[in-house]
Amino acid sequence: MTSPREYRDLVRQLIEIVSQGTLLIVHADCLLNEVLGPIWPGDSLSHDFQCTTCGRAFKLHVDTYHGGAGWEPVN
Ligand SMILES: [Zn+2]
Repeated sequence: MTSPREYRDLVRQLIEIVSQGTLLIVHADCLLNEVLGPIWPGDSLSHDFQCTTCGRAFKLHVDTYHGGAGWEPVN
């Protein structure tokens, strides 16, 4: 996943997963819904998640200025 477009697609899936209770948001620079709007809420946005089943942590981030994004497990 490298583009803000793919990032937004992932955010839509994550909103669903969070609403189902599978992932918990442990840190958020903004509401997940906000990144789907017409204006980015910031140049660099990061969200941390934790799996409610196994405790594994994941980081989602996007650099809207440079156009890069990532989703990866956190050790
Ligand atoms: Zn898990």
